Amino acid sequence: MIAFYCDKCGDENTYNYTSPLDSTNDLITIDCSNCQNSHNIHIWSSNHSSNYDYNIQNAYKTSDYEAEYKSYINSVIFNQEQLLNTAISEVTNKSAFINRLLFTQSIVNLETYFSDTIKHCILNSDLLLRSFIINSDKLKNEKYTLQNYIMNPNFIYDKVKGRLNEILYHNLAAVIDIYENVFQIKLSKILTNKRSYLEKSISIRHDCVHRNGKTIDGFSHEITQDDIIKLTTFVSELMIEIEKQIQPVRIKFINENNPCADFSEEIPF
Ligand SMILES: [Zn+2]
Repeated sequence: MIAFYCDKCGDENTYNYTSPLDSTNDLITIDCSNCQNSHNIHIWSSNHSSNYDYNIQNAYKTSDYEAEYKSYINSVIFNQEQLLNTAISEVTNKSAFINRLLFTQSIVNLETYFSDTIKHCILNSDLLLRSFIINSDKLKNEKYTLQNYIMNPNFIYDKVKGRLNEILYHNLAAVIDIYENVFQIKLSKILTNKRSYLEKSISIRHDCVHRNGKTIDGFSHEITQDDIIKLTTFVSELMIEIEKQIQPVRIKFINENNPCADFSEEIPF
């Protein structure tokens, strides 16, 4: 099975490959099922063996270290680009409903980015996992018996994973708390005076999702093409800036897990 994440849209693609009987080298092209980006794949195998290995262009093998993380980033950035392209097309001048959908989706993308990357970082680093527990009002004072630990060697990991799954990632205060106290990244400083703009946009997203675009008092939000473009651009720039700042944190825990790796890498966009 050939399995990879597309480096354009982040989607996972799989392909059932069978080695040809008369050759130890093969070259195939697979188009991403989501964005149709073409991927050339060089496959090789030893003589008379069904085992093979492969190199792939414009993609990450799913088995590669950190491939999943890169796919999260590529996916949200691709979705933001799609949103922006749709927002500047004429369709957004015609439908208040479509405008609400596009506006809402930008916040959903940001929420997905927070959720995927925060969970990945904390669950892949002993240091960050410890720091999360110490800073979690819910977890830090919980008490368990020795039996809990004996019965489940992953007890602490599972508790943290459960807590991370409970967090609502459109709760900006909760997200800022994790960035500032666990990752030591001053998210409120990155947001500067745009925090109230983001909070207002999150609240409009709530009204769009739960009240068809109306406030609790029945007031209808008017979302224009300019509003969508402004929010989409802001969310993309915010994610890119956070990603720049989280790189050293990631590199630290990657090296913590693989002392010989000496990992350093550019941001994948
Ligand atoms: Zn793709």
